[in-house]
Formats: sequence, structure tokens, C-alpha cells
Amino acid sequence: MISASPCKIVSALSVTSEDTMLTPELQAALAAVVGAAHIRTDDESLIAYGTDALKRGHAADLVVLPANTQEVASVVRLCAGARVPIVPRGAGTGYTGGAVPLQGGVVLSLERMNRIIEIDELNLIAIVEPNVVTGELQAAVEKAGLFYPPDPASLKESVIGGNVAECAGGPRAFKYGTTKKYVLGLEAVLPTGEIIVTGGKVVKNVVGYDLTQLLVGSEGTLAIITKIILRLIPKPPVWATLRASFIDVEAAVAAVTNITRARVIPATLELVDGESLEAVANYLQVRSLAPAGTGAVLLLEVDGVAAAVAEEASRVEQACREAGATEVLRARDEGERQELWRVRREISHSLKVITPLKFNHDVVVPKGRIPELFALVRRLRDEYRLRIPCFGHAGDGNIHVNIMVDPGDAAEIARAHEAEPILFRGVIAMEGSISGEHGIGFSKMPFVPLELSPDEIALMKRVKQAFDPMGILNPGKMFP
Ligand SMILES: Cc1cc2nc3c(=O)[nH]c(=O)nc-3n(C[C@H](O)[C@H](O)[C@H](O)COP(=O)(O)OP(=O)(O)OC[C@H]3O[C@@H](n4cnc5c(N)ncnc54)[C@H](O)[C@@H]3O)c2cc1C
Repeated sequence: MISASPCKIVSALSVTSEDTMLTPELQAALAAVVGAAHIRTDDESLIAYGTDALKRGHAADLVVLPANTQEVASVVRLCAGARVPIVPRGAGTGYTGGAVPLQGGVVLSLERMNRIIEIDELNLIAIVEPNVVTGELQAAVEKAGLFYPPDPASLKESVIGGNVAECAGGPRAFKYGTTKKYVLGLEAVLPTGEIIVTGGKVVKNVVGYDLTQLLVGSEGTLAIITKIILRLIPKPPVWATLRASFIDVEAAVAAVTNITRARVIPATLELVDGESLEAVANYLQVRSLAPAGTGAVLLLEVDGVAAAVAEEASRVEQACREAGATEVLRARDEGERQELWRVRREISHSLKVITPLKFNHDVVVPKGRIPELFALVRRLRDEYRLRIPCFGHAGDGNIHVNIMVDPGDAAEIARAHEAEPILFRGVIAMEGSISGEHGIGFSKMPFVPLELSPDEIALMKRVKQAFDPMGILNPGKMFP
């Protein structure tokens, strides 16, 4: 995204073993901790563990796969003694390069720590190791009639530890909140090797600073999370799914306003703009997904007890029709529900067909200002001659603005880079934020000073220094 970088960020990954700070003695000591079978040194692994969904990375010098908290702490102590950088890694689906070992060193993959330790139905709690796949935890708790609402679209691959480290959101955030709302306690290993436990099984706890919430969203820069205590809620028994079509984004956003006025909070309220619809229709070769005259669709779900769902679904439908919906479909069964969601689910794949390179921004504005955000995007499209399909979580104002560029077109890439800071300044002026859920990593780092003041950044750096005096945990991330 930003070409200038203090570190060796390479788009075509190369292994840089000649630069490694890892001595054979340290490598042998790490192998003694986790077992030689749980160390990766081959080029293919060093490259694979050196990137994430951003697709721009830096090869690791060594990949270490500990089995438990004690092994994590021993690995950290050995690396700290040799001042070798450590980068924690979940599933590697992050969009901002958070799990990329920018300065080489050890990638500490938590993939062997993937157990659901306990589902405590009485206290509405789940205790998990960090690399439990989010969707698998959801399925497990739902079997007990419980619900873990955070639902990043990556939920079939991403893991709870990565979700906690990024404070992942998703379509259900408007009604149910993001990951932070569900984290009651953590066990974590500090970059100096101590094991700490924050929070616990209780929903009320006001002793000392709230270290749990400080670690949530800290992007692997403050501590390595080794255990997570999560709050669960009862599973909503019934839901209704609707898809409303509109001639343009403005009409769809008017419907969102009407729904708020009708005092309904849908479980999901997703918006897909015309350019994204067109991409999906082309990708799936189904023209009816982007019919002429449809410039935006809303995908909505309401959930709860049956009587309330029926009543709220009717109010939502009416709110859409009053905003000029040209069509409102309501799923009659699970098959139809999946069909209505198809457009939303296929967007990511469809955009890749337009061009393989996108600058994927997850900006967020107060819901009432979404029309201003779309007006700004239209201006950028016209002035900078860019393709910018948008979709996302209209319920909470978190819109994915995808600037599509041809990797071989340097002029187009330059125009995109010019447009990015204008987009970010615009959302900040709208009282929004440059990232609602994907975090900063290294790709958004240059833009942080647009949103945070020098005093705020200095304070955050002092927090980092207090946790990580040697600066070995995930260095080169978050703050320029
Ligand atoms: C197709 C797709 C759809 C997506 N949709 C969404 C979405 O709807 N909402 C959303 O919020 N995000 C979304 N994302 C982004 C991504 O899935 C999330 O940021 C997710 O939380 C990352 O989890 P992960 O396990 O892959 O973490 P990784 O990418 O492995 O790591 C992310 C960060 O967390 C740190 N980390 C990982 N594990 C630990 C640990 N145990 N302790 C300390 N630090 C750790 C890493 O160092 C890194 O900084 C999407 C990504 C893709 C590819």
C-alpha cells in the first residue's frame, strides 16, 4: 500500500537466512523446548509463515510450534536472552500484515494449541486455547443451545486468538458487539517470559487496570495470548432473512435510517453496492444477481423469539419499502437463506477476478454519515479514475472500501496511493476511524498519525515499552 518502509518488506518473498540473528545454539535450545519435529526451517515454511492475507511479507528465520503455555514462555525467554524478534501467529488471515515477521526472527505459531478446554453451560463461559477455529467454537457452543456472536467472514479459517488480538468484528457486530465484548479473561506470556492471568470467569471485576481489554486488539505487540475465557449468550431460537434491492446506495442508506427509526436492531445489516453486485454477477455468471436498475442491496437478519422476529421482520420490510425498495425477498427456509446470502459471501472471490490487487480498507463512520462516505468514494472514483467497489456492515457504519488496481499499471497504483489519505482524512472528519476491524499491522501504520495525536501515540509507545522493554515482540507494527 505504502511503498516507503523502514523494513525489508518484499512483495515476492525471499528467504533471508544470511541475515538471521538465530545462532545454531539458540535453534538447538528452541528445538529442545518444543521438540525437533515442531520446528520449521525449510524455505517453503519460512515463506508460508511469513505472510498473511495482505500477501506482502517477509520470510521468517525460524518457525516454532509450542504445545502449551510453559513451552511458549520458555521459547520467549530464550529469544529474549538473544534479542531475537518473536511474532505470534494464529491462522494468518489478517489483512494488514500483523503476523508478518518484518524483521525476521521467530514466528511463534500457536496452531498446536487448538483445544476447547471447557464449555461451562451454567456460567455461560467457554475456555479455549488460542488456535480454536472461530466457526468450530460457534458450532460447539450452539450444540449446547449457546451462542458466540462474533462472526468475521473468515470464521472458517481464523482462530479465536487472532480474533482477540485484532478485536475482530463481522456482520453481527451492530447488534451483538465485537470480540472485545465477549472476552472476560486471558492467560498470556509477556515478552519478558512471565505468564500473566487477567480477568477471569466473572462478568464483574474492577480490580486494577483492565489488562484484558488492553490486550484485546493489541495485535500481538504486547503479549502472546495462550488461553481465553469467553462469555456466551443463549442462542436466538429463530431468525428471518431478507434481501432488499434499491436503485442506488442512497436509497439503501435511507432504509437503514428508517430501520433505526423503527427501533429495530437487526442481527445483521449488510450493504452491497452496484459495482460489487456487478462483480459477483460476472464471477458467478448469474446476471440476475445484478439486475438492471439495482444499484445496491441490503441483506438483513433479525433474530430472537418467534413472535418478536415476525414483528421485527415486518417492520424492517416496511422500512425498506418506504425507502423505495424495488424488491424485498424473505427466505422461507435454510436453502433460500443461503441463496440470499450468496452475493455477500462471493464478493471477496469476485473482486479477485476484476484484478488480483486491491487496497482493502475497512473504514468506519457513524451510521448516519454513511451517505457522506459514499459521496466521498464517488468523488475519488471520478477524480482519480479508480474502480472502488464497496460493501460491508451498514448497521455499524463499517464499510469495506476496495480500491482495485492493476498490478502492472504504475500510474493507476500511484493514483490509488493519492486517493488513500484523502479517504482516511475524510472518514476522520466524519468522526469515524481508518480501521473498524482489520487493525493496523504494518500496512496502515503510516496513516495512524492522521487519527491519533502525538501525545496519544507517545502514551501508547510507553505502554508498549512497559510490556516489551527490549522491543522484541512483533516489532515494526502499529506505530510509525
Ligand atoms: C476472506 C476474509 C474475510 C475476513 N473478514 C473479516 C471480518 O468480517 N471481520 C474482521 O474483523 N476481520 C476479517 N478478516 C480479517 C482476519 O480474518 C481477522 O483479522 C482475524 O481476526 C485474524 O485472525 P487470524 O487467526 O488469522 O490471525 P493472524 O492473521 O494469524 O494474526 C493477526 C494478528 O494477531 C496476532 N496474534 C495472532 N494470534 C495471537 C496470539 N495468540 N497472541 C497474541 N497475538 C496473536 C498476530 O501477531 C497478528 O498481529 C477477514 C480476512 C479474510 C481473509
